[in-house]
Amino acid sequence: MAIQEEIREGIARKQAKFDDWDWDTQLSKVDKGMYLRYADKLLSYLHSQGVVVKVKCPDCEWSQFVGGESVGMTPCHTCNSTGYIYEPLITEVIKEG
Ligand SMILES: [Zn+2]
Repeated sequence: MAIQEEIREGIARKQAKFDDWDWDTQLSKVDKGMYLRYADKLLSYLHSQGVVVKVKCPDCEWSQFVGGESVGMTPCHTCNSTGYIYEPLITEVIKEG
């Protein structure tokens, strides 16, 4: 699942929980759709304000060390050697849904 889809469902689940519903056992497909549309509106607003998602650069080589330093990274040009890239909060798939 893309990070954008995880965030979208995460917002819907949290709002449902706030309303005292259990996402997995108490909500119908229609109910879930209502919460997902709420998430879409919220994400659309944040997107319009320039909010983006920071993700690990897929072109860098990340490696985990045992003990000592936690993470090593071989930088690349895609991310300008920062180790991270930015993705839009809303993808085309979510816009259609
Ligand atoms: Zn990189």
